[in-house]
Amino acid sequence: MKPIVAAAIVVCAALASGCASDPVSSSAPPSSPQASAPRGSTSPPPAVATDPSRSAEAQVSRSPLECSQTALQGGLIVCRTLPLMVVTLDGHPIARADLQGLAVVGLPRDQPPIAVIGLAPPLDQPAPFGVRGARAEVMVSSRTDGVSRFVMACGKIAPQTDEETRHAQISEGKKSQALKGVYSPSGDLSFILPARGRTSSPFGAVRTYVPDNASCQGRTSVHNGLDIAVPTGTEVIAPAAGVVLLADPDLYFEGGAVFIDHGRGLLSVLMHMSRVDARTGDQVVQGQPIGLSGATGRVTGPHVHWGLKFRKLLAADRDQDLWIDPSLALSSTAGSQ
Ligand SMILES: [Zn+2]
Repeated sequence: MKPIVAAAIVVCAALASGCASDPVSSSAPPSSPQASAPRGSTSPPPAVATDPSRSAEAQVSRSPLECSQTALQGGLIVCRTLPLMVVTLDGHPIARADLQGLAVVGLPRDQPPIAVIGLAPPLDQPAPFGVRGARAEVMVSSRTDGVSRFVMACGKIAPQTDEETRHAQISEGKKSQALKGVYSPSGDLSFILPARGRTSSPFGAVRTYVPDNASCQGRTSVHNGLDIAVPTGTEVIAPAAGVVLLADPDLYFEGGAVFIDHGRGLLSVLMHMSRVDARTGDQVVQGQPIGLSGATGRVTGPHVHWGLKFRKLLAADRDQDLWIDPSLALSSTAGSQ
């Protein structure tokens, strides 16, 4: 397994940005090359992230908080700090650093142009020296998402019959139970596409589902994942290592689906599969086959839907979780054509 510092580099590189602390922070170095790099620069991560021999304490003598320099709405910010520190976004606790001090922050699709990252001490503990007041400002670019329109049978838009309603309720119960589980590995956080194929529908598009008859009403929602157009029966692989929180062949909206917890609050959902080979509780490695693509659940044709959820692990309920643009987490095009 790669050292955790390598994971930070992989993720920062995937985000097309270096990792730097805020130059105005009182505890940050006065004029480090990373802090003074132009916004949007693709300069490499700071030396501290490339030297595994440095302890967390040594890193703090340099800066207690280093984060990606730039991000996109609906994307991720990766930060390095002290182990177990609570990381805040615009003043609100949103993540906790792992035992190696690596934290991932998910951004909503409407994130303001400057994301202010701060630190809070672990619960019931005093703040280590130099941590109080540490902050990093990350420039966040705006999204330009499209709109799309789909004609669907009423039962694909929302449950219509008692049987469909019961099916949807059972599916919700399975998901709610599974999402109570949390896996916190210290492995790599690089992602690859879960299938080889053309991206047919990007994350973030506003979709209107139009019923194919007048017996029900339509719906509008945001496409919360990335669609890859592949024929039924195409191999689906794990985008990154993790633990399978739920593997089910017949969820109401998702169809055959596999939920993989990658740790640090990130969870992949692969949907519409014709065959599910992974099993709940499985530990999978990146690239491991987990089933075959299909057209199950709410779909208009065969494809793989990859959703990437950022779970606010400090929140009391999962309603505050965010869907992240999976394309912004890709570190490789190994899974693409
Ligand atoms: Zn989709």
